[in-house]
Amino acid sequence: MTLHAAYDPDNIFAKILRGDMPSLKVFEDDVALAFMDVFPQSDGHTLVIPKGIEARNFLDMPADRLGSYMLRVQRVAKAVEWGLKPDGLRVMQFNGTPAGQTVFHLHFHIIPIWESREMGRHGTGTMARPDELAPIAAKIRAAI
Ligand code: AMP
Repeated sequence: MTLHAAYDPDNIFAKILRGDMPSLKVFEDDVALAFMDVFPQSDGHTLVIPKGIEARNFLDMPADRLGSYMLRVQRVAKAVEWGLKPDGLRVMQFNGTPAGQTVFHLHFHIIPIWESREMGRHGTGTMARPDELAPIAAKIRAAI
């Protein structure tokens, strides 16, 4: 997918936003939704997506909507840190297939890092079961 294709309203995250696909939510308001990545690169890998906007990537995001969205990204990142106490935290975002993007609705990855644990590679993990993700999501939710 190039950087300049049309927004596909049937992408996975649009379906999650419409409630047509399930997700394990940790935060939601009128600006953003945060939920657990089902192919986590580490325990607590969380995605934060903007609501009410057809932005495939960071470049598409209208400037006047960016600030409020980034505040939510930071709020969820802080909750991941407070809830899970990792040694570090990666906040990542990919634009276009060549850059590694696979879902074309803007999202930031929040990936906790522990020095003692190996982190999975982007796009190569196995699907986590809901019962594995649920207790982690509960800790993040409790910290928001
Ligand atoms: P990216 O490759 O940056 O576009 O990231 C897309 C992310 O969405 C990947 O980390 C996937 O593991 C994740 N993902 C794909 N499908 C789902 C889903 N149904 N629910 C939660 N996360 C998903």
